[in-house]
Amino acid sequence: MIDEKDQRRYALAISGGVCEVCGAPLRDGQPQGAHRIGNTQANRAKYGDMVIDHPFNIGYTCSLNCNAALDISKNPAACIQLCKRIYTREASKYEGKK
Ligand SMILES: [Zn+2]
Repeated sequence: MIDEKDQRRYALAISGGVCEVCGAPLRDGQPQGAHRIGNTQANRAKYGDMVIDHPFNIGYTCSLNCNAALDISKNPAACIQLCKRIYTREASKYEGKK
């Protein structure tokens, strides 16, 4: 399992140190780890912990406003696309291990 610290480090690294939504530098403010598919009980029941806690589901934003803009919970097509990326990535870890 990935702990929260690793999750933050990873998210910061892939964001290039800027807010994913507005592009503001993150070093000055208080960066917010934002879930694309919201971290709610309902979403955990629907998508599973693997999807909710996956680094692909976490973005980095500069503020609560930008945090909210990253939420795709209400966009079924975007959620399915994200799940597909996550499952493809996770499946690749098992390739060649049979
Ligand atoms: Zn921002």
